[in-house]
Amino acid sequence: MSDKGYFDRFGGRYVAEVLRQPLEDLERAFGEAREDPGFLAELEVLRRDFIGRPTPLLFAENATREIGGARIYVKMEGLAHTGAHKINNAVAQALLAKRMGKRRIIAETGAGQHGLATASACARLGLECVVYMGEVDVRRQQPNVAAMELYGARVVSVTAGSRTLKDAINEAMRDWASSFADTHYLIGSALGPAPFPDMVRTFQSVIGSETREQIAERGLSVEALVACVGGGSNAIGFFSPFIAEKGPRLIGAEAGGVGSGRGENAVRMTGTAASDGIIHGYKSRFLVTEDGQVAETRSISAGLDYPGIGPELAALGESGRIEFTSVRDGEALEALRFFARTEGIIFALESAHAGAAAIALARKTQRDRAVVVNMSGRGDKDIFITSPVFRPQEWKTFLRAELERLERGEEIHAFGGRS
Ligand SMILES: *Cc1c(COP(=O)(O)O)cnc(C)c1O
Repeated sequence: MSDKGYFDRFGGRYVAEVLRQPLEDLERAFGEAREDPGFLAELEVLRRDFIGRPTPLLFAENATREIGGARIYVKMEGLAHTGAHKINNAVAQALLAKRMGKRRIIAETGAGQHGLATASACARLGLECVVYMGEVDVRRQQPNVAAMELYGARVVSVTAGSRTLKDAINEAMRDWASSFADTHYLIGSALGPAPFPDMVRTFQSVIGSETREQIAERGLSVEALVACVGGGSNAIGFFSPFIAEKGPRLIGAEAGGVGSGRGENAVRMTGTAASDGIIHGYKSRFLVTEDGQVAETRSISAGLDYPGIGPELAALGESGRIEFTSVRDGEALEALRFFARTEGIIFALESAHAGAAAIALARKTQRDRAVVVNMSGRGDKDIFITSPVFRPQEWKTFLRAELERLERGEEIHAFGGRS
């Protein structure tokens, strides 16, 4: 990264004048904290006892046998507390904010996974937490909203624009512009104005560092690392310790959605639909409409449908160090089923995109080589999306019965709950 927060022509800090100082303060505090043994020791304890690190590297033996190519290994990031890699960044930024003397955290969330991780980290560290979430997302992601509230966070429903993630980010930025004296804005992916891309990558690189050690311990000959790419935090963290080296190949899987047409996917690096843009405070590749507005995207996985991509990934994609591929909804579902059946693990829908890309690559690769896929999250959270696909009739019957039961008022009084 250059001094100005650029990765080749991407990145930077395109914000209102009022946010320049807080971003500079954050950059300085982050620079000091990453060198401070006290901060690092505290983070290490949280990683071990709260997040549950290190996460295992599983040899997917049955999957490997069935595919008949390279040995497939799964980095089990989904075993981290709250079910995905997002907690790595949430805990570290919350700890940094506390060190800076902030008492309040704000965050944006789309599907709710980052909001959940942030709410949990704030509860643990004794910080007030406010999560901005588009009204549309609040409505369709109720289980995550309920969990955030249980952790003591306040979820603010955003009614501007398309009432989704991009509007939630705008609202969080607006809040921060008037609250930064006592508030930290905890961005959930490796994007946004500098120093966020650099900082989020640093905090997520624990995934790659552990993987590197686990590979060395087992003496694996690795052909490629494969990760899914939404904003890009799990991918850049996983790849980070390997980027400066010639190998292994680094492969990012984007959401191919339902097709290659405009609005049918969230492919920013391969197709032809994306262009350079400056949105949400940084310069990168974005899916935009003909008149320059942020485009609607489509994917079965809520974590991969952001219209932009982190600036470092955009730069490394153009330089060729990271290769990009895309995986459609149907292929991701197929991979999810495959790993569940062969290995007894359920990938998050996002991670299943990486799983599908890893299977395709393993098939074409020699048996003495290894393909390592990052399972960025586990799939429990997706039950409301996968069940209607895999078991539509049974699921409808179940939901109908649940609703009827609630309307009859059964069990609501348990534990002295609502009256
Ligand atoms: C949020 C999320 C993603 C996408 O975010 P990145 O910043 O691209 O990593 C991927 N997988 C899971 C499980 C997620 O929750």
